[in-house]
Amino acid sequence: MLLDIINLKAHFPTQDGMVKAVDCVDLSLGERERLGLIGETGCGKTVLGMSIIRLLQPTTMIEGQILFKGKDLLKLSEEEMRRNRGKEIAMILQNPTTSLNPVLKIGDQVAEAIQLHQGLNKKEAKEKAVEMLESVRIPEASKRANQYPHELSGGMKERAMIAMGLACNPTLILADEPTKGLDTETKAQIVELLKKMTERKSMLIITHDLGVAGQICDRIAVMYAGELLEEASSEAILNRPAHPYTQGFINSLPVKGLLPIRGSSPSLIDPPQGCKFHPRCDSAVEICRTKHPEMVNLGNGHSVRCHLCH
Ligand code: SF4
Repeated sequence: MLLDIINLKAHFPTQDGMVKAVDCVDLSLGERERLGLIGETGCGKTVLGMSIIRLLQPTTMIEGQILFKGKDLLKLSEEEMRRNRGKEIAMILQNPTTSLNPVLKIGDQVAEAIQLHQGLNKKEAKEKAVEMLESVRIPEASKRANQYPHELSGGMKERAMIAMGLACNPTLILADEPTKGLDTETKAQIVELLKKMTERKSMLIITHDLGVAGQICDRIAVMYAGELLEEASSEAILNRPAHPYTQGFINSLPVKGLLPIRGSSPSLIDPPQGCKFHPRCDSAVEICRTKHPEMVNLGNGHSVRCHLCH
């Protein structure tokens, strides 16, 4: 496996108590595999991504192992980690409007990452940056490279973020909500672009959009209240979801009639006892309120955390 996350916890203190954003997560990603991590806003998926690239607040209490090519990223020094970022592991951050530097030209922002990791001089890095902007199909790339983020449309900014993420040909790409806030047409274009640009690459896409994950990814893992509830091939998740939460998530898609899951996401400070989903689950039985379900392997790489699937 390229990436092996073992029993990962990422908890951070707040005035109201300890937020258990990631709680005992096991997850693996193979070479040239694209995995979608899906869940509602606030379920801990972005914190999981930030844990991999080690960009969490310093107060975060992190435990477990994140093995990348067999090395535990959590044990690397900050200097070693800085050398890995961009070159080995790159993150396409969510919300380009706030992630891009508003006072730096787009081409210079892409060139900066290239220069840092590829030992090119400024001119060569800028030329490579224009090539990258062309590869993500930004029209008139050499002109756009000299523009500032506010001069680009939302779709173009997202393309520039993808160009920055892929600039150093990283082994692992983490893409956090790459289609958030985009209109339907632009979203479809970005999905197509990501699919094409990441063929034969390893990528973890963090998204609340199951449709996006289904179109791009080989496998999908479903996260809820800091833990994984189901993991399987995209085909199995979309057509044969076993967990009541995944079933509800699919029923809430526009193509399925927009039927929302009742209730709201639980607190990550004081989550429900037993199955964390039980207050919202129509199938809940007595044991669900008292005993935390274990992940069970259903075969064919499909695993699920539900007492009824034992
Ligand atoms: Fe629902 Fe119980 Fe399964 Fe949780 S363990 S998803 S409450 S049936």
